[in-house]
Amino acid sequence: MKYVYFFGAGKAEGTGAMRELLGGKGAGLAEMTRIGLPVPAGFTITTETCGYYLKYGGKYPKEFRAEVVKYLKRLEKLTGKKLGNAVNPLLVSVRSGSARSMPGMMETVLNLGLNDKSVEGLARATNNERFAWDAYRRFVQMYSAVVNGLPKEDLEERLRALKSKLKVKDDTNVSAAGWKELVAEYKAYFKQKKGAAFPENPEDQLWGAIGAVFESWMGEKARTYRQAEKISDSLGTAVNVVQMVFGNTGEDSGTGVCFTRDPSTGQKVFFGEFLLNAQGEDVVAGIRTPLQLQEMTKVMPRAYKQLESVRQKLEKHYRDMQDMEFTVEKGKLYMLQTRTGKRSPSAAFQIAVDMANEKLIKVEEALERIKPEDVERLFYPVLDPKTQRGELRQRLFVTGNNAVPGAAVGKVVFSARDAEAWAERGERVILVRHETSPEDVGGMYVAQGILTATGGKTSHAAVVARGWGKCCIVGAEQMELDHGARTVRSNGRTVREGEWITLDGGDGSVYTGEVDLIRPEPPKAFATLLKWADETRRLRVRTNADTPQDARLAREMGAEGIGLCRTEHMFFKDFEFPERSAERQLAIQEMILAGTVEDRRKALSKLLPFQRRDFIGIFEAMDGFPVTIRLIDPPLHEFLPHEPAKQAELAKKIGISAEFVAQRVDQLHEANPMLGHRGCRLSITYPEILDMQVEAIIEAAVDCKKRGVHVLPEIMHPLVMDKKELQILSQRTRQVADPITRKAKVKLEYAVGTMIELPRAALLAAEIAEVAEFFSFGTNDLTQTTMGLSRDDAGRFLPVYIDERQAGIFGSDPFQTLDVAGVGMLIEWAIAGGRKTRPKLKIGICGEHGGDAESVKFCHRVGMDYVSASPFRVAIARLAAAQAVIEERKTAKTRRR
Ligand code: PEP
Ligand code: MG
Repeated sequence: MKYVYFFGAGKAEGTGAMRELLGGKGAGLAEMTRIGLPVPAGFTITTETCGYYLKYGGKYPKEFRAEVVKYLKRLEKLTGKKLGNAVNPLLVSVRSGSARSMPGMMETVLNLGLNDKSVEGLARATNNERFAWDAYRRFVQMYSAVVNGLPKEDLEERLRALKSKLKVKDDTNVSAAGWKELVAEYKAYFKQKKGAAFPENPEDQLWGAIGAVFESWMGEKARTYRQAEKISDSLGTAVNVVQMVFGNTGEDSGTGVCFTRDPSTGQKVFFGEFLLNAQGEDVVAGIRTPLQLQEMTKVMPRAYKQLESVRQKLEKHYRDMQDMEFTVEKGKLYMLQTRTGKRSPSAAFQIAVDMANEKLIKVEEALERIKPEDVERLFYPVLDPKTQRGELRQRLFVTGNNAVPGAAVGKVVFSARDAEAWAERGERVILVRHETSPEDVGGMYVAQGILTATGGKTSHAAVVARGWGKCCIVGAEQMELDHGARTVRSNGRTVREGEWITLDGGDGSVYTGEVDLIRPEPPKAFATLLKWADETRRLRVRTNADTPQDARLAREMGAEGIGLCRTEHMFFKDFEFPERSAERQLAIQEMILAGTVEDRRKALSKLLPFQRRDFIGIFEAMDGFPVTIRLIDPPLHEFLPHEPAKQAELAKKIGISAEFVAQRVDQLHEANPMLGHRGCRLSITYPEILDMQVEAIIEAAVDCKKRGVHVLPEIMHPLVMDKKELQILSQRTRQVADPITRKAKVKLEYAVGTMIELPRAALLAAEIAEVAEFFSFGTNDLTQTTMGLSRDDAGRFLPVYIDERQAGIFGSDPFQTLDVAGVGMLIEWAIAGGRKTRPKLKIGICGEHGGDAESVKFCHRVGMDYVSASPFRVAIARLAAAQAVIEERKTAKTRRR
């Protein structure tokens, strides 16, 4: 087994393709060496070695030590210098570098090889005693902290004391004698703390540094970072041992970081910063304010020209934007790192489109490079990146699940009604609830953001908020809400009603007070790239929308129809005339409280004109595109108030007794409402609800048709589990619809179909398709019922199931990314069965998964006709559908080979 790979003098054992083995930095150094760029020589220890070290409790593989010694000799031969030599010493840097970039998360040791002898050699070789002793004190300081764990603060304190004693402000003004004194002090401190002298033997130093880099892979910050970035712990880091070059040998030296294009805008300009007479960490640590890269044209024009040509060569070679580190030593340029640069979402679009237009990459590659998060983040306001991190830390109030990204600032309110009232008078509010229900929808709509103590990512709050692109954090369980006192407590602090808070839906953090937000403008490149996606994809993309407003927004986002209109949302809110919302609510409540069919019909007839108006608006927005309308779904108790005071208020309005209302609420109570009297079971037992809804839909369609608006209504029954059940509903649907069209003398094509959201329906799909004219997979409920996990509560323990450091049972949240192995199997079975009966059966998905890139790709593979996503996720679905085609082409190609 080979553990070490050499590079230097134009040759390298590794290549840029060996990222997994050599880490990003090692692979970059090897590749840059190969293509003739100026890279200092060195060697890379593989990530596999780290894996071994971690697995065997800090032991190295057998032949490893000998291999390192061999490569060290080779490096000494190539450079003509020796580690620790008193005449011509070799100095090396020892740096981490994993396959996935983890900037600043692991350790580095610079200037290794210095000791009391070689420092003199360095002073003579450079003819600069001050520089040599500065390098030495940096090394002792870094080594003591990184390898031996001495507190950085103690070491810094000694440096500050020295400067104050010498009465100098900047490090650059400390003399050689000053640094000598500091080295002696550091060493004394080391001996006092460690009970042994600071290691003078350079090989011992090297082994100490290699071990420390490996250990830093499992350090606290590295682990936390990996968790956030979903990087596996098992990968390990490589170690790069590289000949030191110095940017701090005088005014003809310097160091910097640069990007081949601007990482925040994506513009094709050379972007970066540098410092004269400085070492790499000085730029990173921000001790001195760096200069704009372009300043280099004035102070070191030759090196800049060289760097510019490196920029061009690297971008052509890697065919992507690069993030590079360089050092100039006495006018000579050295490249120390290159990697694919991280970029803002809008830069990601700009760069992909520009590179395709420049013919540097193919359109397919441009499409592949955009991540779903890039699309999503493009539209949400975010915390102003100028906000001080330290300040944010101090203001952290609570954290929850980041259900919808973006950010929101507002005053805390604890009820939907207050939210509406406050918003009415122009206040910006954040709705803080234990959980939310359809009753809260009005308050949620006007709130800037929503924060709940319970619930998961497909909980009601999350689903609704996502539909609106509204920042939402759910399951912040540390919060203690006190409705009486109108306060919420967490983290030892109390926030009162009316006080400001800020939600960061990006990571689920909640801060006290107002943090500045910015809303990024989607760049032109966004439209170009999505046009390319549309030209590539086969899947159609619809939207989940319940109002004309959402339907119009979704059209702007490129939706080609509505895959799910949840009609019950219309029972609560009049989005066009908000002041009329109460009328709707009262009508539905009256309907539920009605004692006879007649009374129920009377209440429903009040609701009908509202629904008809909404449908007309939706049909108009979708002119010519299909609209799937789902009949009532949630259990009825959700529509009634549960607090006695509100029940009394309602009773008074309707003219019945409060006791009756309470009794009815009691009657409707179910131990398991999600598996109870809901979905099409409501229309089976109260067919008059179906009658009213179908009437409203068909009358709206007829009205539109008469005015020349193209309509394609699809009436959908939820939660169907049996063919006969659907037969009854389908028959009744037509019995209501057909007389209306006949009477109006309008030829209207409409379809009647079903959701597939129960395992039984999926299993019996072949039979159900005898009646159903289309299928739409409701994967929220299908996931819930297949896995036996409550979509509203599973968020409490699912993190343990997903975190690979805990149980790690699932790779991702099954309510977010479709569980292909289980739920996916039922879907495939149902599609096969359905199409066996009805070969042209139209099939789509309308669960939350329709807006999740990975799930969309699955939908493509299993041959669905369309996916339906909330308006703000339509673009993600369009892109993912195109990526699915590209992946398919690739697989077909490799198969042919
Ligand atoms: C579903 O269950 O996937 C679905 C779309 O319906 P709802 O979320 O309204 O239950
Ligand atoms: Mg459902």
